[in-house]
Amino acid sequence: MMKALIIEDELLARLGMRSLVDWEAMGIRLLEDAADGREALARIEKELPDLILLDINLPDMDGYQICQAIRGRTNAPILFLSARTEEADRIMGWKVGGDDYIMKPFGMEELLARIEAHFRRQERTGRALVTE
Ligand code: CA
Repeated sequence: MMKALIIEDELLARLGMRSLVDWEAMGIRLLEDAADGREALARIEKELPDLILLDINLPDMDGYQICQAIRGRTNAPILFLSARTEEADRIMGWKVGGDDYIMKPFGMEELLARIEAHFRRQERTGRALVTE
């Protein structure tokens, strides 16, 4: 099973992603969600996910900072989820090491299709690795 971490401060958004997607059918186990940057870093410290869904507007840090903090430690796909629709915001997402940028509101079908595409790409290039 692949492990995925949702980092999102809005409870309804977290619940939506949890309940509207059949994660198990995709071979994915969801780790306990993180609602802010501090929690996110603690979870990642404890158990490195194979996929990270990362909100940008969080109460303590922003998603870009989190991405920068962890990018050197994992090759796992990092998908930004954001209501910020400016091109500059999306570009920043790529520049800090994100692999994808999904604009809210998004449909679960799109989310799934993108996740599957990232996993397929990884299968082609080698599994997510922990690097020192
Ligand atoms: Ca948010």
